[in-house]
Amino acid sequence: MTVAPGASVRDAVAVLDRELADLVGRGVAYVTDGVGRPVDAGERVGEGGAIFRVVVSARQGPPRLTKQALRRWPKAELHVHLDGCLRPATMLELARAQGIRLPADTPDGLAQALYVKHAKSLEEYLTKYEVTLSVMQTAAALERIAYEFVLDAAADGLRYVEVRYSPLLHRPALTLARAIEAPLAGIKRGEAETGTKVGLIVCGIRTRAPAESLELARAAAGYRTAGVVAFDLAGAERGFPARDHAAAFAYAAQHGMACTCHAGEGDGPDSIHQALHQCGAQRIGHGTRLGEDPALLAYVIERKIPLEMCLTSNLHTHTVASLAEHPFKRYLDQGVVVTLNTDGRLVDGISLTDEYFVAQSVLGLTKADLARVVLNACESAFLPEFEKVALVSRVQSELEAL
Ligand SMILES: [Zn+2]
Repeated sequence: MTVAPGASVRDAVAVLDRELADLVGRGVAYVTDGVGRPVDAGERVGEGGAIFRVVVSARQGPPRLTKQALRRWPKAELHVHLDGCLRPATMLELARAQGIRLPADTPDGLAQALYVKHAKSLEEYLTKYEVTLSVMQTAAALERIAYEFVLDAAADGLRYVEVRYSPLLHRPALTLARAIEAPLAGIKRGEAETGTKVGLIVCGIRTRAPAESLELARAAAGYRTAGVVAFDLAGAERGFPARDHAAAFAYAAQHGMACTCHAGEGDGPDSIHQALHQCGAQRIGHGTRLGEDPALLAYVIERKIPLEMCLTSNLHTHTVASLAEHPFKRYLDQGVVVTLNTDGRLVDGISLTDEYFVAQSVLGLTKADLARVVLNACESAFLPEFEKVALVSRVQSELEAL
């Protein structure tokens, strides 16, 4: 089927089926691309041709917010990996300068090569990070990548973001101190230019020796007042229990750092239980499988423990079979403090705006729900109380002015 140049996705659907286009217009149906990611019906059809599907959903709601409108929304993000967010063009430049071979030599080719689509598991998903990390082994590269990350986050409407990475994965090229100072410098530069506030989270790695996690917590604690806000544990979850790294969490907490922990993504609710009760996590990274343990779910609601949820990433790692089956909306309705996050903009092929769009079009979140989710993220920030209050009231008044 051919449409006129400049035609929108909705126009293309109308050429095929006027009734279907009407359903899209009324928000009863939504359009996805060939791999099932929702697209904005107002977007233009690419000139090279594209595959679209129309999904008719049972939820009937008021007209939906466009991606353009959602991009202007003030937003905050708490769970995103620096090494999953590189600009492809920057990767190519860094690789050329450092004499490193990448799987493609154009920005688009590289974005395609690193986009996970459907990994078989969390473990396979993580292999994409080996490629990005290969060009991040100098202080200058880390500084630049962190700086560009802040610019991109600000352009996506983020007023506050906590970005994470593991300094352990930059050894032996850099010392832990250098590997922490370099992104902090890039962040400071980005913050000054954009006004977006940024916190840095350091991640221990589950598959590495617990002694390394402790070493990292010790190194990071020295930068607590310089921008490092929290300690996290990442990496393959199943078979690598968080409790093995409890000493690192304890050290971080005793030295004034906040703690979060990836859990309930590659493994079940017992992993979340360990993160909360044996490692003292104040937030949970993902927590997707929380609902499998109703008592733990009730506890998380009661204690208002925030979940850093990532819809598209969970689809890519097979934590959920489809976006429509994601428990995000159910948890929100049950009173869990849920937040929306990208996990990795490059590897998951999304922006935070896209993730809000997915929540709206696939899970049926209303405008009020989306605003609640934005405020949940602000209220769950690892910021000193007075700064958090300022962030919440700024974002709240911006939301009210929309
Ligand atoms: Zn993550």
